[in-house]
Amino acid sequence: MRSITAIVRPVSNVCNLSCYYCYNKRESFSRSTHIMKVDVLDSTVSSFIGSDCEIVKFLWHGGEPLLAGLDFFQNATKLQKIYTAQQSSSVIVRNNLQTNGLLLNKEKIEFFVSEKFHIGVSIDGPDYIHDQNRYDHFGKGSHNSVVNKIRMLKEMRGQFGALSVVTKSSLSYAHDIFDFFISEGLMDMHFSPYAEIDPETNKLSKKSITAEEFGNFVIEIFEAWKILNNPSIKVRIIDNFLQGLLGGKIEVCTFARNCGHHLLVEINGDVFICGRNANDEKFHIGNITHEKISNIITSQIFQEMVERMRSISETCKKCKWLNLCKGGCNYYKMLLGGDALKNTEYFCEGYKIILEKLGNWIRQEGVTTQYL
Ligand code: SF4
Ligand code: SF4
Repeated sequence: MRSITAIVRPVSNVCNLSCYYCYNKRESFSRSTHIMKVDVLDSTVSSFIGSDCEIVKFLWHGGEPLLAGLDFFQNATKLQKIYTAQQSSSVIVRNNLQTNGLLLNKEKIEFFVSEKFHIGVSIDGPDYIHDQNRYDHFGKGSHNSVVNKIRMLKEMRGQFGALSVVTKSSLSYAHDIFDFFISEGLMDMHFSPYAEIDPETNKLSKKSITAEEFGNFVIEIFEAWKILNNPSIKVRIIDNFLQGLLGGKIEVCTFARNCGHHLLVEINGDVFICGRNANDEKFHIGNITHEKISNIITSQIFQEMVERMRSISETCKKCKWLNLCKGGCNYYKMLLGGDALKNTEYFCEGYKIILEKLGNWIRQEGVTTQYL
């Protein structure tokens, strides 16, 4: 493998917010009992850096990873340097942090800037959208505090972007959300569509969106993006599909069929394929304190699981966008149950709407590609 991503959960699913849609919610915060131990962190860093991959990405995730404290991240980067120096061939190490932003302060930002972390801040848009879903354990909205931290990041020249979850609350406000991000200097935007099964009703939860709703939402964002005509504004799904349409490589896992390159490491060292499968035994592939990542990813059981995750439905096989979409995300193929080998991805129709629109646009611009 050329690159591998370790999605590390230093405090597991513990969080200082209690967002409506968080699949990790359900546990309240207790710092003393919920931080990855030093030996697990050490094994994680040494094993991934020694995995024979040229690029090793660490995505620090949660719950809320900053609950682990600055010393945890200082130790992590110190270990990264030690183990990188021990490799016989060069290894590029990158760090990304996904955070709700609340625990950022000057000292932490200085550290993340000096270590070149890319920080993804979870923010859904202006307060009247964000606070509907992103609140603390007492129901108080988090928008005001998050915006203050984003301004601090901007002042201190951090590398940061926005992760916005698109729920029913967002659908009528695509332009407002885009304008808000631009006004706060959030030039790198990722829109993550929300659809989950409510465990109480066993049906889609009430704020889930349909594939068509997601497609139309992204089209509205695209229209706003076009008007500004500023190449430094990046909207991840638009950027990825445009790149693919123009013959480039799409890296995001959803459209790259590379599920096996993204492994989640839980607080206790348990390893799962993909960050969405935390604590799902079906995707549990070992423990970092007992097995080396290089052994796990070359094992037959791992290869078979990944092949199964990469399966393509009969509908996808006939689809003109297959080379760009690659059948979408395995997690969303399984969302409504049934056999993932046969299912088409939940957001399929949305991807088609977006691809048609982008394809037409670049055709009008006079560009021809193999897909048009
Ligand atoms: S299951 Fe989906 S989110 Fe997970 S690695 Fe595969 S494509 Fe990515
Ligand atoms: S657009 Fe839909 S049918 Fe086409 S490859 Fe993607 S998921 Fe499959």
